[in-house]
Amino acid sequence: MVSMEDEFLDHVRDAEQLLNAVDHVLDTIDAGTFGQCRSCGEPIDAERLASDPLVDSCERHLALGLSS
Ligand SMILES: [Zn+2]
Repeated sequence: MVSMEDEFLDHVRDAEQLLNAVDHVLDTIDAGTFGQCRSCGEPIDAERLASDPLVDSCERHLALGLSS
């Protein structure tokens, strides 16, 4: 059974991850690299960006699961 506290902490962690992702996107906008893969710099598919603006890796690196 999941306690209310555990559930709350889960939400906090989700929110933290979202904040970090938004922070990173704002950084890329500042740097002029928004829409580019953070691993290889290749442009990210516009349709994927439109459906999820927080996507920060091209399909290849997303598949590899590389976050840095
Ligand atoms: Zn890439």
